Amino acid sequence: METTFVRLESLTYFSLRNSSIKEYFMEEQTHPYGPSVAALIEEFAKMPGIGRKSAERLTQYVVNLDRPSAGALIKAIDSVKRNIKRCSNCFVLTESELCDICKDSKREPTLVCVVEQPKDVISLEASGAYEGQYHVLHGCLSPLNGIGPEKLTINALVQRVKSQGVKEIVMATNPTLEGDGTALFISNLLADEEVTITRLARGIASGSVLEFANREMLADALRGRQAF
Ligand code: ZN
Repeated sequence: METTFVRLESLTYFSLRNSSIKEYFMEEQTHPYGPSVAALIEEFAKMPGIGRKSAERLTQYVVNLDRPSAGALIKAIDSVKRNIKRCSNCFVLTESELCDICKDSKREPTLVCVVEQPKDVISLEASGAYEGQYHVLHGCLSPLNGIGPEKLTINALVQRVKSQGVKEIVMATNPTLEGDGTALFISNLLADEEVTITRLARGIASGSVLEFANREMLADALRGRQAF
């Protein structure tokens, strides 16, 4: 009896660890309403922060939508996929060649804040404490996951520093092992350039991510930034 329990438990563990087995079980998912509903639940369940129950609720919402509302939802998704691209200067997401921040003449172009993700720009902008431009890396260095400098926008950042007379780089990568490692890697790359490198003050708990820091905390971290 005990052996069976252990075996079942390790099978469950193995199936969660092994994506092909997981996919096999996923494919087997059925729904009393039929495959269309089952497929939509699967799609919603892939979204961040959406568990199975939430995926079912969202699917129920879509099932209840009238045709024009469903059409608007499809059109909104299609429009995002068609129009959103990366700013050619800072790599934040935008619908034009240059984003609004890069186009804004009131923003200081020689002050550049380096962040991991576009959503970090939203968080820092909400703090209202920053008047420079940004540079979005689109990730952080993670050798164990095969993410090297070539997968990020690090080369473009170095070029930007060289060609745009950038005076200060504010490292605002997350205060995690990988975020700190990325900041260190970039500062080493820029060691010979005439640019001051600063790091957000440690008001943000080590190991946390910018996304969850509140406005005042981010404003303090920006104002209290220190030489890296
Ligand atoms: Zn931009």
